[in-house]
Amino acid sequence: MAVGRARLSGLEQDVRAAANWCLDVADHYGVTVTVVSGRRSTDEQRRLWNNYQNCLRSGNMGRTANCKYPANPPGDSAHEYGLAWDSVVDPSLMPWWKRIRELAGFHVIAGDLPHAEVPGWRQYV
Ligand SMILES: [Zn+2]
Repeated sequence: MAVGRARLSGLEQDVRAAANWCLDVADHYGVTVTVVSGRRSTDEQRRLWNNYQNCLRSGNMGRTANCKYPANPPGDSAHEYGLAWDSVVDPSLMPWWKRIRELAGFHVIAGDLPHAEVPGWRQYV
């Protein structure tokens, strides 16, 4: 079952439909997916960017719970345009979940596996 499906509501219509398809596939296989992020405000992106910079400065990147993932600067995240969403599954299923999202047309970045975005999204904003 999907947790946080409502977080997809701010995505662009076609992106939301593709993301919902992914969640439906997971539902079909009985895999629990938690949607952790959809569209973000610029303020929220700035908060994540500042946190990421603090993680890099302190050397905590990849070492603490709030320093697990990179963030783009405010104004330069697909999340701010409703063109990306983040989700997690049981770590053992993450390779499968990456493949499902790729089948739906998303680009999943190796260093940020929860993140799925429209390939080449900058050309659309
Ligand atoms: Zn993301």
